[in-house]
Amino acid sequence: MSDQQPAIRLTGLTKSFGAVTAGDRVDLDIAAGECFSMLGPSGSGKTTVLRLIAGFEQPTAGTIELFGVDVTERAPFDRDVNTVFQDYALFPHMTVLDNVAYGLRVRGVGRTERRERAMRALAAVRLDPFAARKPSQLSGGQRQRVALARATVVEPKVLLLDEPLGALDLKLREQMQVELKQIQRDLGITFIFVTHDQEEALTLSDRVAVFHDGGIVQLGTPRDLYERPASRFVADFVGTSNLFEADEAAAVLGRTGQFSLRPEKMTLAERAATAPTERSAAGTLVESIYIGTGIRRVVDLDAGPRVTVLEPNDRTRADREDRGERVHVVWHDADVVALAAP
Ligand code: ADP
Ligand code: MG
Repeated sequence: MSDQQPAIRLTGLTKSFGAVTAGDRVDLDIAAGECFSMLGPSGSGKTTVLRLIAGFEQPTAGTIELFGVDVTERAPFDRDVNTVFQDYALFPHMTVLDNVAYGLRVRGVGRTERRERAMRALAAVRLDPFAARKPSQLSGGQRQRVALARATVVEPKVLLLDEPLGALDLKLREQMQVELKQIQRDLGITFIFVTHDQEEALTLSDRVAVFHDGGIVQLGTPRDLYERPASRFVADFVGTSNLFEADEAAAVLGRTGQFSLRPEKMTLAERAATAPTERSAAGTLVESIYIGTGIRRVVDLDAGPRVTVLEPNDRTRADREDRGERVHVVWHDADVVALAAP
């Protein structure tokens, strides 16, 4: 087993359910210790790929390697992976400690070692003071951390997490995202994280695979995906974008093809751009929406499309323009991203 070997290698992995292909010839290497996300809309095949890796499903075609060993034919318990699901059912009648120690008991680990290791796993999620409680005496976020401790206590090389924060409210989700990242770094476990929430994927991951219709449509760092979306789908799914179809691109950008331009890369001005690297288009402001961290401006360009501009909420801009006002939308040529169809 060498360090260069990927923790996981998927080769031509395919899963068909009748006419539906949930995994469509997926090729993917995930490095040891990586925090990796699978991001995509509901039904894009993320859970299916995760279940194939865990061994809960058998692929129609293709192979799964864990640290260089082909495990495609192996049973789930014979793979060095563990899974945390969204509905992390804890045993209500057991204490937190016994819940965490359960996986060790199943594996025949003796009582003393079991308790020691479970306490250590609880300490890693900062829940050791709650070891004697029942799950019902914990908050949602604490229960989620127990589920995490329960999954990590058996020291899997790979941890699969399927929308584990889906049941939590926004504030708690954001806290847990930071905690998950810390736990992952501390334990050095390879994380594969499934989510339909683009912000969550960008926050947590070293790399993200964007799923669409059962296949990976783009693979990259959060920055790659956001700054250089390869397709219309990714530009639209990861963050918000102004998309310019061929005729709009010709009219507004003076370029041939399909393009994306992020709202925060544009600004409003009273006159047309004059700097050589800047471009601008005239239009009419139709809406200013105050969103706290910024002001969202909706502008109908004379050349055709409606665009959204996100301006920072600073003193000079607040309530400067009014509906119906004539404005110039200004951007830098370098921020215009060419998209491959579709
Ligand atoms: P995601 O996790 O991205 O929401 P899934 O992997 O759960 O997507 O599902 C992908 C597609 O496969 C969906 O169209 C879903 O209906 C289908 N699918 C998943 N599991 C089964 C199954 N056991 N039987 C039939 N179809 C399934
Ligand atoms: Mg799913």
